[in-house]
Amino acid sequence: MSESKFIFVTGGVTSSLGKGIIASSLGNLFQSRGYRTTILKLDPYLNVDPGTLNPYEHGECYVTKDGAETDLDLGHYERFLNLPTTQLNNVTTGSVYQNVIDRERKGDFLGKTVQIIPHITDEIKNRILALETQKKFEIIIVEIGGTVGDIESLPYIEALRQFKFERKNDVAVVHLTLLPYLSSTGEIKTKPTQHSVKTMLQSGVQPDVLVCRTEYSLTDKVKNKIALFCNVEYNCVIESINADTIYEVPLLMLDQGLDQVVAEKIGLGKLKKINNSIWKKRLDKLKNPNELFIVGIVGKYVELKDSYKSIYESLMHAAAFLGKGISVKWIHSEKLNNNNVKNELFDCQGVIVAPGFGDRGVDGKIAAVKYVREQKIPFLGICLGMQVAVIEFFRNVCGYKTAHSSEMDLTTKYPIIDLMKNQNNIINKGGTMRLGSYECTLIKKSKSFEAYKKNTIHERHRHRYELNNYYKSDLISKGMIMAGSNKDLDLIEIVEIVNHPWFVGVQFHPEYQSSFINPHPLFVSFVKAFLNK
Ligand code: GLN
Repeated sequence: MSESKFIFVTGGVTSSLGKGIIASSLGNLFQSRGYRTTILKLDPYLNVDPGTLNPYEHGECYVTKDGAETDLDLGHYERFLNLPTTQLNNVTTGSVYQNVIDRERKGDFLGKTVQIIPHITDEIKNRILALETQKKFEIIIVEIGGTVGDIESLPYIEALRQFKFERKNDVAVVHLTLLPYLSSTGEIKTKPTQHSVKTMLQSGVQPDVLVCRTEYSLTDKVKNKIALFCNVEYNCVIESINADTIYEVPLLMLDQGLDQVVAEKIGLGKLKKINNSIWKKRLDKLKNPNELFIVGIVGKYVELKDSYKSIYESLMHAAAFLGKGISVKWIHSEKLNNNNVKNELFDCQGVIVAPGFGDRGVDGKIAAVKYVREQKIPFLGICLGMQVAVIEFFRNVCGYKTAHSSEMDLTTKYPIIDLMKNQNNIINKGGTMRLGSYECTLIKKSKSFEAYKKNTIHERHRHRYELNNYYKSDLISKGMIMAGSNKDLDLIEIVEIVNHPWFVGVQFHPEYQSSFINPHPLFVSFVKAFLNK
């Protein structure tokens, strides 16, 4: 195949229907049938990237290996396809306009009036085609964020209309909608779906396949009605019933032949045989665990679980791999202190202290670390979670009671965590942290080495502050182990402590590299530590 095939995934009726999971599931099925597949997210907001967004807005910011700060759906793409994405896999309206306006300033448009059609829509199409140009992918799935009918998504739907017209035989449109159930009459209602398809038709786009979110199974009558009113074939009305876990969705879609009906729309004909036996085995282990554990996640955004999406999913990957069940106890760091920490954490077999920025909730995180260190409870500190582990140790074991991170206390006499040198004169907040994948060398006698079983690893970063090397020898003399470091930049990337069953703090984000098929070694090792207890 010389050119790529494109599958657009749009959403109607409401947001949060799980377009990312449907796009990922479809990608997973094509990949399991031997097609080289990638997924691209088009985000309608005006931020250039989600790096400057508060997690309460859209959940976690996901970081690609090449250092792009992206939408959390890219995490799903990587977890379902077990393949890295890059900065090409996320487009935002902000970045589209920024490019077009930069080119206008350079005079690239030769005096023409710069307009949404064709200039913005061309830019959107070019960003989609950039993935085809790489010649790496046979299937490119394009998820359009937001809901059809939103003012913000209009240029994307228009770009889709043009794209479909230009590449008729290479494009399929899968539209995800909601079928509400009215308990008073005991009926599934199709009208909102009809309206959302009409909204697409007003923009000149006829969906080829409808995936319908529903709480109850669809009867033939309902499917026929949707087919008739929405101009789609009966076998292109696919039900997406609530699943126990997101990792079941590819199999639910496979049962109804979603990949096959889409394949026919893009001229692929009968698909090659599927190879998904490992996926099925893992899913079975995830759904039938032989032991249950509670893991506490301490963070300041726990009201919105999506803020820690990748951490949660990494725990599920490790659980599925080991055949254990993990239930997460969400613990608000702002409500935690030395007096109540025991009450909050006593039932946790392991504790994760989450990443974060700013001083809100930091004292609670420090209290959590003190407790797990003293009680010898397995602990994984991620990014800020690692930094607070170092602060706690420096204060309570080394005796520097007023030590802090200069992020939280600029005037501290002992800045045990301090701004990285190259961050000093940075003014812009967007895209200026230490971002993306960096090498880290492990020392042999460490829990980290036992987990990774290699000397050199690569992990993704997103931070401005670092362990202050000036105090390294104080920490080491009291039993902190500098288990991993970046030699080029002279940065400590992993700390552990002696005489503890499993205490690991990492300056990077292991959660960005865990997938359902390939669970992250640190998370597996962390969960294994509960078994050994
Ligand atoms: N705020 C810390 C820093 O910038 C930690 C960042 C994080 O947890 N991602 O270094």
